[in-house]
Formats: sequence, C-alpha cells, structure tokens
Amino acid sequence: MALVNEHFLKLPGNYLFSDIAKKLNTFKVTHPKQDVIRLGIGDVTQPLAPACIEAMHKAVDEMTRKETFRGYGPDQGYDFLIEAIIKNDYAPRGVQLSNAEIFISDGAKSDTGNIGDILRHDNSVGVTDPIYPVYIDSNVMCGRAGVLENGRWSNVVYIPCTGENCFIPQIPDRRIDILYLCYPNNPTGTTLSKQELKKWVDYALANDTLIFFDAAYEAYIQDPKIPHSIYEIRGAKRCAIEFRSFSKTAGFTGVRCGYTVVPKELTGATLTGERISLNQLWSRRQSTKFNGASYITQRAAEAVYSPEGKEQVRKIISYYMGNAKLMKEELESTGLKVYGGENAPYLWVKTPKETSSWRFFEQMLYEAHVAGTPGVGFGPSGEGYVRLTAFGEHSDCVEAMKRIKTWLA
Ligand code: PLP
Repeated sequence: MALVNEHFLKLPGNYLFSDIAKKLNTFKVTHPKQDVIRLGIGDVTQPLAPACIEAMHKAVDEMTRKETFRGYGPDQGYDFLIEAIIKNDYAPRGVQLSNAEIFISDGAKSDTGNIGDILRHDNSVGVTDPIYPVYIDSNVMCGRAGVLENGRWSNVVYIPCTGENCFIPQIPDRRIDILYLCYPNNPTGTTLSKQELKKWVDYALANDTLIFFDAAYEAYIQDPKIPHSIYEIRGAKRCAIEFRSFSKTAGFTGVRCGYTVVPKELTGATLTGERISLNQLWSRRQSTKFNGASYITQRAAEAVYSPEGKEQVRKIISYYMGNAKLMKEELESTGLKVYGGENAPYLWVKTPKETSSWRFFEQMLYEAHVAGTPGVGFGPSGEGYVRLTAFGEHSDCVEAMKRIKTWLA
C-alpha cells in the first residue's frame, strides 16, 4: 500500500482560478448572449517579440543538422544565456555575479515552489499578505505551513499590506526563518523603495532569515528609483535568493523560461550550526530533479537581450502599461480607490462601501460584464479588494472601463 503525503489533503479543495472559472461558467449558461471581458487571470495576450521568434527558428534549424544538433544541455543552463543575464540584468545595476550563481529554469513558479526542497520542514515562514498563492501552497505540501485555522496557516506569519499602511509591510516583532517578498507585487501592483527594501535586508541579516525575493515583474518598473533586484541592497547576497522570469518580461508564459540567483556566499544551517552553501544544495536539487529548459527556449530568451529584442520587448511592456494607465485613470474617475498600475501590470481596487471581494466580483460580472479576481483569494488582507490586470487587448480594456463607468454611474 502506498501511503500518500497527507499534507496535500490539507490544501483547500479549490484553487482560486477554478472557483472563478466556475462562476464565469454559471454566468455564461444563464446569459448565453452576453460577452464578458476578462481582466482577471494574469496571462499575457501579445505575441512573442520577432527577435525571439527568429532566434527560435534558427535554433530549430540547428537541431536538423548533426553538427549543430543539441541534446541534453548543461545542467544549470547555457553560458550564452547566463552571460547575457549577468551583463544586462545585473552588471548595469552594480551587481557582480558569476555564472555558477545563475540557474536557468522553466519559470519562476517551479523555482519558487521547489526551493523549499533544500530547507527543513520545520522552518517558520513569513509572507506579505496578500500574496501569490504558490508560496503558501508549496509550504503546505511539505508540512511546513502547519494547519489551517480560520483562513490562516498556523506556522505562517502573515505581514499585512493594505491601504492603511500604504502596502508597505512592517517588520515583524519576532524572527522568521524564511520570508517571501514579491516586488513589484502580485497581486497589489505596489513596489518597495530602496530604503524600505533595505529594512528587510537588515532584518534578515540581523535575524539570520532567508529571503526569497520574487522579481517576476521587475521589467514593469517605470520609476528609476525603484530597485529591480534585491542585490542592489548591500548585504543581500548573504541573505537572499532572487527569482526572475521571462513570462511577463517577454511573453514566455507558454514558452517557459526563468532563472534563479543563489549567491555563493549564501548559507543555511544544520541543527548543529554548521553553515552549508545553499548554492550547492540548489545545484544538487536541480541536477537531480530538473533537466533544463530547451536549447530553443534558451536561445529565444537570449534574444530578449539583443538590441532589437530589447526594443521590441520594451514596446510590448509599454503596451500593457498603457492599458494600466488608462484603467487606473478611468477607475479613479468613478471615485474608486485604485493602487498599483504604475510600476506593475496589476491594479488593486478597493471595493466601495465595505463590499466583500467575492460580492464585488459577482456584481461587476453580472452588472458590468467584466471579470476581475477577488482579492481575498490572495490572502486574508486581500478581503475588500479586487485585482484587475493590464494584460488584455487595449480595445477590451477601453470597453471594460466604459462598462464599469456606466455601471457605477
Ligand atoms: N511569481 C509571481 C509573483 C507570479 O505572479 C507568477 C505568475 O503569474 C510567477 C511567479 C510564475 O511565473 P512563471 O510563468 O515564470 O512560472
């Protein structure tokens, strides 16, 4: 008899997006003629940059010839991509990294979900709240989150980010072993200044806390003062692992490529206090359980850093950020309080008159025929908010705003 990992049974039955899909289905069945504009799910809509497509075609052609065919690649990624990352994403920000500190992967979901493999099950966990659900669910699966009591996991410290504290998480009054930070933030679309991020790095260094810094949306930062990488803060290499993704940067949600930075000086401890290199553990974990992103994909990712690729990707991001600007202005003109949308593709909308997230979601669906995502699905502090994304077609965003304005008028 195979015994199951019973921690999986603790996970709430329905994932947020399947709950939403069910509600949308019910609406479609009862209103078959009414179209719905979906501003909920965070997938991109614009095609890949031509430079990436060209690089993929070239890589496919290489696969057709014996002399240029590629089989298994290097465990942690091809040097051509790793070097392009260091040269373009880090060196210009004054961050020096070696090739062995970058691990190419199939995206940030796998890496943020798998990173817990290299840590004991009884570390305490801290998250800013609301949060990308993968951080918590992956800790539930290995028993690290504890038990669910009134919508909160017993071994997770929730650090609230709401309109009351301008979405700036306050340093907790106790120590935490592992802390997840995501900036620019999904779902709130807010960012942290260098000074605010430094407080967390200082906290981590003082408390021997390991920070997981998810920078999947760094390409959307418009304000030059906002840090793109946690390593822009002095000392962060001794306390943080950073996750990056080409998904939202360059439309790779279907292609799949990302990377994780594990600095050489970063260590964790054994129970006896011996310090162990996390770079070595992650390298061992990945070479055992992961066989690399495809050569074709890595060539496409490399093309993001070519002069043409950079320009094309910049235009796509501007397209989405143009949507965000329009949505923010239009929603604010109705009197709604709207956060984010300036350095991130997400708008975090406060529901009026204390309406619950789900209630507002349903009202907007049934009365304006626009679908968002209920904020409470991202954690207890998301109650009373709805997330809208700027990843849609521009014409859909315009029409959605028209509908919402008519509805709220
Ligand atoms: N991290 C955050 C905060 C995200 O919002 C997402 C996707 O929505 C991911 C990671 C996953 O990215 P990837 O497509 O690289 O797996």
